[in-house]
Amino acid sequence: MACPSDTFNRPINYLRISVTDRCNLRCIYCLPPEGISLLPQSDILSYEEIAAVTSLAAELGINKVRLTVGEPLVRARLKDLVALLARIKGIDDISLTTNGILLEQYAAELKQAGLKRVNVSLDSLCRDKFARITRHDKLDAVLKGLEAAKACGLNPVKVNVVVMRGINDDEVGDFARLTISAGWHVRFIELMPFVRDNPPDGHSIAGKVGLHPAFVSANEVKEHLRSLGTLEPSLPIAGNGPARYFRFSGTSGTVGFISPVSQHFCFSCNRLRLTAEGKLCPCLLSDREVDLRQRLRNGASSLEVKKVIVGAIRAKPRKHRINGGNTSKKRLMSQVGG
Ligand code: SAM
Repeated sequence: MACPSDTFNRPINYLRISVTDRCNLRCIYCLPPEGISLLPQSDILSYEEIAAVTSLAAELGINKVRLTVGEPLVRARLKDLVALLARIKGIDDISLTTNGILLEQYAAELKQAGLKRVNVSLDSLCRDKFARITRHDKLDAVLKGLEAAKACGLNPVKVNVVVMRGINDDEVGDFARLTISAGWHVRFIELMPFVRDNPPDGHSIAGKVGLHPAFVSANEVKEHLRSLGTLEPSLPIAGNGPARYFRFSGTSGTVGFISPVSQHFCFSCNRLRLTAEGKLCPCLLSDREVDLRQRLRNGASSLEVKKVIVGAIRAKPRKHRINGGNTSKKRLMSQVGG
């Protein structure tokens, strides 16, 4: 079935599903060291509820789903959700965004359940720096997770790097060289600003409004990489997400740039987001949302739920407003990396 379009004629075929609000890292641009207040388990959609919403979305023409935010692999038996989603007629692409720490343990069973591909967030290749950015000394686990994902046939495996001036911008060349020497698919992501309710801790760069001093534009990263060789435009390796792709001549790996701040990609936005507590968000970066959980738990008919999904699609704004600094943390949590 043809996928639905929003009022700006953008085809919407992609559902990002937040499977949990829990995370096993505390990245400095994302969470305070103590974490955030967590939802009671009963507020979080069950796998059956997520599958029910996805199934109705698929009947409307959604064909791709991504599991993300906080850290999907901390939710027990994620493979059961993947298996449920893989059985839904019309869903032909199931992907995952993860910090990779638990990937070595789960990659094979997720692949077997129907997961196609994975994005792994990795902001530094240096143990100390990785620990400083994520507040956990887990670089080895992530690297093992990456290898396990490749070994079991998840393809492609993309690496997401949030570039921060004075923190990890000196490593962009090292990451890019891995696209040449090891065929990695690396995507450099611009640091997004956000508003949060909790005051930022002394070591956090989360919580600032507007362009943070650590912000580095995608263009600046690209300029920097010129010293390594000519970057030729490349077709996306999978999916039709927001990254612009390049490769160094004659190499199999790719370098992608995701620039939500300097060059928004709203004109090609094809997404809806389902939060862990069952809210449907028309835009990943605005606070507008509609509750599905209560409707599901009150026995809403399929038609009713489908109407809400169509309503959310029709409510998609023309563009996000993160540069206005009015977007909450919750929204930014699942924006990129997809
Ligand atoms: N836990 C999973 C992970 O680490 O990939 C999924 C959730 S994480 C919030 C999704 C992606 O958003 C990651 O690639 C992360 O680096 C990115 N991200 C989070 N906050 C960001 C920010 N302020 N600016 C840019 N990217 C951000």
